[in-house]
Parts: sequence; structure tokens; C-alpha cells
Amino acid sequence: MEKRITGYTTLIGLLATPIKHTSSPKMHNEAFQYLGLDYAYLAFEVGNDGLEAAVNGLKSMQARGCNVSMPNKTVIHKYLDKLSPAAELTGAVNTVINDNGVLTGTITDGVGYMRSLKERGFDVIGKKMTIVGAGGAATAIEVQAALDGVKELSIFNRKDEFYERAVETVKKINEKTNCKATLYDLDDKETLRREIADSFIFTNATGVGMKPLLGQTYIEKDMLRPDLIVSDVVYAPTKTRLLEIAEEVGCPTINGLGMMLFQGAEAFKLWTGQEMPIEHMKEFLGIE
Ligand code: NAD
Repeated sequence: MEKRITGYTTLIGLLATPIKHTSSPKMHNEAFQYLGLDYAYLAFEVGNDGLEAAVNGLKSMQARGCNVSMPNKTVIHKYLDKLSPAAELTGAVNTVINDNGVLTGTITDGVGYMRSLKERGFDVIGKKMTIVGAGGAATAIEVQAALDGVKELSIFNRKDEFYERAVETVKKINEKTNCKATLYDLDDKETLRREIADSFIFTNATGVGMKPLLGQTYIEKDMLRPDLIVSDVVYAPTKTRLLEIAEEVGCPTINGLGMMLFQGAEAFKLWTGQEMPIEHMKEFLGIE
């Protein structure tokens, strides 16, 4: 790795805090090395306070761009020149591309999720999705699903601080896309059961199922049926309680590892113009 870094190598950053635990540098640097691309990806512990200076620094140093995670995803748009339609609709940015000093922000989480379904042969376009969540991951998926042509979205969330965000998301989806989105309270279990019953796919886009909510789910087994696709954005553990129950029912299941890989692959392509070597990366990252 160090042998390939020279004075010509172009920087790509990751701006977030806390961020030392991230696996993104491992993923991107392996892909650069594998394809012989002259970039280096480094994570920087930056929060909202240092964000403007960091963005300007990356621009001055002619970095190719950066990834952005919490708490900067919903703030960085202030320091950028342009936004993609998905970034506009979600109000969040996870990828910045620097084209000769013009900074464009986009969000690749939703694209990554949709591609993970497609790669598994799950065609959700023109169909109904029931999804739980109103946070970062959920909003990105809901917006991208609507932009890509999912026909109907039944969105559930509990009435916490995220609920208002879901109200906004539903409004924007109904105004700006051809998808029909409706929001429900997650505590209304009978409505959840009814909406899942005529859905093609059910998605958990909350942290329920991972630490500190490990082993938990709000789903009851009799809400599922064998031809329902059940998807979870959680990737640690790779099999959440939801996916265990779904497997017991006989549902096809998919965890969040594909979304994680493909959101990275989409950013990689925007920076380098090249496809990430997916099969190699799956092997390298231990993804089945
Ligand atoms: P967030 O904090 O923005 O949103 C949290 C969501 O979880 C909200 O909708 C909230 O209402 C809901 N929630 C929290 N506790 C709950 C509970 N006890 N019962 C019901 N709902 C509850 O978080 P986020 O960034 O959207 O992340 C959510 C999950 O998605 C995490 O598990 C994260 O690891 C995962 N994620 C996966 C990927 C991927 O690439 N696979 C990407 C981003 C996030």
C-alpha cells in the first residue's frame, strides 16, 4: 500500500466523528490498489465545528472528494456548490465530488440499497414496499425507492423525534415523485400487519436488531408470509432477530451488507469513473 503512494496520489477523505472504527478506508484503498488507481482514502475526525474549514481544505488540496457521515451529513450542503436530486429530497449528503473546484453533494445510501436488491434478483420497481424508519438510512432508501419507481411506500415509525422527519419525507415524495407514500405509527400493529400483507417487500431501516437493541424486533411471525421479501439494513449482526423469524417463515431475506458495499461502490464510481471490483471486494470483506 505505502509503495503505491507518491507525490501524484490524489486524496479522498471521510469527514465524521466518531469515525476511527470505520471500515471505509479498508474498502476503498483495497479497490484502488486492486484496479491500480492512484488515490488514497483517509478518515478525518471532523465534526460540525471544523466542517467548513475541512471542506475548503479538501478543495484547496484538490482532493477528488469525500464521504461524509454523522454529524455532518445534514450540515455539509451549506458548503457545497450543487446537490443531486436525492440529496435535495433527503436533506443529507454522504458523498462529495470535487470537479475542478466545483463541489457536488449526493447521497449513495439509497442507490446502494436498491442495487443490493437488484443484485439478489429482487425487482421491486412498480411494487409496494412497507418500510420502518425515519432516520438517515430510512430516508435515503425511501427517497431512492420513490425516485427509482417503487409504486407505493407504507412508512412506519414510532412517535419519537424522527417522526416529523418522516412527515416531511412523505410530503416530498408525494409532491416530487410518482410514488404514493403514506406514514403510519409503528405502535399501530394492526395497520402494520395489513400493510405488510399486500407488500412485495418489508424493510427494517432502524437500528432495532443491533446493539443496544440486539435480539429485538417489533415484527410478529404471523405478519410474514413465505413469498414476502424481508430486508434489514442492519449488518452487524448479519442475521438479526427479524431475519431469523423471516427465515423460519420461509421468506427470502437480505441483510445490510449489500447496501454498505454498494453505497461505497456508487461513491467509488463517482470519484474514479470506474466500477468497484465487486466480486473481489465481497471476498476481501468476507461478504457472502
Ligand atoms: P438514525 O439514528 O438516523 O435513525 C434511527 C431510526 O431508528 C429512527 O427511525 C428511530 O425512530 C428508529 N428507532 C430507534 N430506536 C427504536 C426502537 N426502539 N423501536 C423502533 N424504532 C426505533 O439511524 P440511521 O443512521 O438511520 O441507522 C439506522 C440503522 O441503519 C442502524 O442499524 C445502522 O447501522 C443501519 N445503517 C446501515 C447502513 C448500510 O449501509 N447497511 C447504512 C446506514 C445505516
